[in-house]
Amino acid sequence: MAIDPTQPYDPDNIFGRILRGEIPNETVYEDEHILAFKDINPQAPIHVLVIPKGEYVSWDDFSERASDAEIGHFVRKVGEIARDLGLVEPGYRLLANIGKHGHQEVPHLHVHIFGGGPLGPMLA
Ligand code: ADP
Repeated sequence: MAIDPTQPYDPDNIFGRILRGEIPNETVYEDEHILAFKDINPQAPIHVLVIPKGEYVSWDDFSERASDAEIGHFVRKVGEIARDLGLVEPGYRLLANIGKHGHQEVPHLHVHIFGGGPLGPMLA
């Protein structure tokens, strides 16, 4: 079920539990502020999720409450992770689902990185 993007942060969401080490993940990159891990149900040959360690429900919440430093770090690292995965040439796709119409399922901000093969046109 898609989430309500205005709901308060629920620390028991699945990515909150991954951050606390209660659920395993296949880590691609981690530092003090962010975690990147393989999606459990990949939709492309390479499908990685990048999440901030701070408690943000969605991109909307993050862009409203996070500091410029947090946002800057997050955006820079998403690009760096994609580069380290070898995706820059021939290219890749970033996606953040937000709320009901965006079909966001997990109420902790995450950016999808898709790549490793041709992705086709963006679906509405
Ligand atoms: P959607 O499922 O519509 O893409 P989201 O943008 O909220 O909605 O994406 C949630 C993503 O989290 C899905 O791609 C799903 O496969 C992934 N996922 C769910 N649980 C786990 C998990 N334990 N480990 C890794 N990825 C997970």
